[in-house]
Amino acid sequence: MARERLYLFDTTLRDGAQTNGVDFTLNDKLAIAGMLDALGMDYVEGGYPGANPIDSELFATPNKMRAAFTAFGMTRRPGRSVSNDPGLAALLQAKADAICFVAKSWDYHVRVALETTPEENLASIRDSVRAAKGKGREVLLDCEHFFDGYKANPAFALACAKTAYDEGARWVVLCDTNGGTLPHEVERIVGEVIKVIPGSHVGIHAHNDTEQAVANSLAAVRAGARQIQGTLNGLGERCGNANLVSIIPTLKLKAEFAERFEIGISDAQLKTLLHVSHALDELLNRAPYRHAPYVGESAFATKAGIHASAIMKEPATYEHVAPEAVGNRRRLLVSDQAGRSNVLAELERIGLKVDKDDRRIAHLLEVVKEREAAGYAYEAADASFELLARRILGKVPDYFDVEKFDVNIEQRDNAVGKRVTVSLAVVKVKVGGETLISAAEGIGPVNALDLALRKDLGKYQGYIKGLELTDYRVRILNGGTEAVTRVLIESQDETGERWTTVGVSPNIIDASFQALMDSIVYKLVKSGAPA
Ligand SMILES: [Zn+2]
Repeated sequence: MARERLYLFDTTLRDGAQTNGVDFTLNDKLAIAGMLDALGMDYVEGGYPGANPIDSELFATPNKMRAAFTAFGMTRRPGRSVSNDPGLAALLQAKADAICFVAKSWDYHVRVALETTPEENLASIRDSVRAAKGKGREVLLDCEHFFDGYKANPAFALACAKTAYDEGARWVVLCDTNGGTLPHEVERIVGEVIKVIPGSHVGIHAHNDTEQAVANSLAAVRAGARQIQGTLNGLGERCGNANLVSIIPTLKLKAEFAERFEIGISDAQLKTLLHVSHALDELLNRAPYRHAPYVGESAFATKAGIHASAIMKEPATYEHVAPEAVGNRRRLLVSDQAGRSNVLAELERIGLKVDKDDRRIAHLLEVVKEREAAGYAYEAADASFELLARRILGKVPDYFDVEKFDVNIEQRDNAVGKRVTVSLAVVKVKVGGETLISAAEGIGPVNALDLALRKDLGKYQGYIKGLELTDYRVRILNGGTEAVTRVLIESQDETGERWTTVGVSPNIIDASFQALMDSIVYKLVKSGAPA
């Protein structure tokens, strides 16, 4: 049986840009649009030309995308003509393949927010769709507050949608703008809409205010809608939009959807999903959410030893899909609860060949347990675990030796009389027979230490060029007789690989230093640097 086509519409650059603390530059937008296109999105909504300079510039030149590059804006203002509405004119001039209009579909909003009549609202929809069609654009209508509007006045909400469809809009998109509609309501209402407008022309735009934007999108598809709008990582104002990073693998990997529908994303593109999700975080300078479905670091992590031994025999015992399908991997966490099987599996993944009865394995387990009791968290610090294992198995060269370091923090008035706090670190390192001394100023003591440490590692400098720290987390642990500080550092290199290292000490600088050292040594091991 031929599968039906289901379309994906990404609005990361428009609705996602409404997120608190997110401000895309023109270059960010171009980079993200390229990523979305390469992932296989059908539509990429770029922004709101005419509303701000960046979006106007984005739509000033023709794009080279395979996806339909879409401009967003309002239907003509009530009481104006199409030719006398500058906002609409900017939209019609935009170099876009498609135009997505937004219009009210709740009579209450028409009356209170627009202060116009239902008839004028319908006329505005009709005129705007007609004008955009006249310019040769594919047209979409986002029916704002559709579900709330439908509950209050179904005839009017439907009339808004139907007017756009009758005028030739390719898609009529039902928006749950306030995000409060529940899946069973979405399924019922979409089912009623498609009696009037064919489902092949109906889309869903769900917000996540009851954490059901993904469920609502799938409910709409079950009821007959054939376009899903959403954003990468669920970016969006308040609680976000429907998360395409969760929706896409569900459509591809769950039989109910995979057998019935085809989407524009191939299996090979699906494998890049984790990378795309993390690349957006990287651009936003955020640490990836580790419990994210499918792509999170914990999404396929197993801790308890008894699960781990089963998972090694048959991964399907504890995995709902194969992690590799989305570019993720299985993680068997090594911790104080871990059994031999976790450790063995982890060693196998790292590529360390050890006989399973090797006495060093028992020793490694013992050291892990001791160190975890002291505050180390190896399940969160895969790279530190790998180094520990390699060290116990005698496989980490002594690349360099930090003979001493010194970190100073000074608060003073700067040249213009402003109070500033400056950190200065000096590091003395021995590489081969050579002693190197480096100094660096940083935003804080750890930053200064990191910069000084990585400034000059002699013959190893080339190996760590692409190394950067992407996240730094500190926790004070109250265990035993005194409080200790645990530092977790996440690093990344030029290949995009990320790893986490850990340090523990009563002193925060010392804990940070341990984690920094592990990160650098891990990078050298991974790059095959010679001893
Ligand atoms: Zn929205």
